[in-house]
Amino acid sequence: MTADRRAPRRLAIAVPGARLKCPACGTGAMFHRYLKVSDDCPHCGEALHHHRDDAPTYFTIVIVGHVVVSLVLAVEMAYRPPMWLHAALWLPLTVLLALVVLAPVKGALVGLQWALLMHGFDPEAKEELGDQFAPPSS
Ligand SMILES: [Zn+2]
Repeated sequence: MTADRRAPRRLAIAVPGARLKCPACGTGAMFHRYLKVSDDCPHCGEALHHHRDDAPTYFTIVIVGHVVVSLVLAVEMAYRPPMWLHAALWLPLTVLLALVVLAPVKGALVGLQWALLMHGFDPEAKEELGDQFAPPSS
């Protein structure tokens, strides 16, 4: 069983994560609240608590920034609206896009970490907490 779980995982597995589904079965919900990843998949029981949260906000800022800045420049070049209209358009759009994009990006990155056996997703890896407090081996 361990050998099957250790088999190379396809990187395309990030797609179920972007759909907010478990990367192992593609059916169970990955999140139990807006951005809270479930400890285990409610469908297949795959442990999902090994993920790290560093990258989703960075990728969300990059994606939303490219979309919003492109739109701001295009509208400015075409219509030259007053600044208050820019603020009224782009600030809410930026917040809304960030809220919409953040969960799928986080799901895709959790799926990617799972596919690449990063952190504790490797079934043969030692428990991270045990490693942290283990005495030196020399
Ligand atoms: Zn699952």
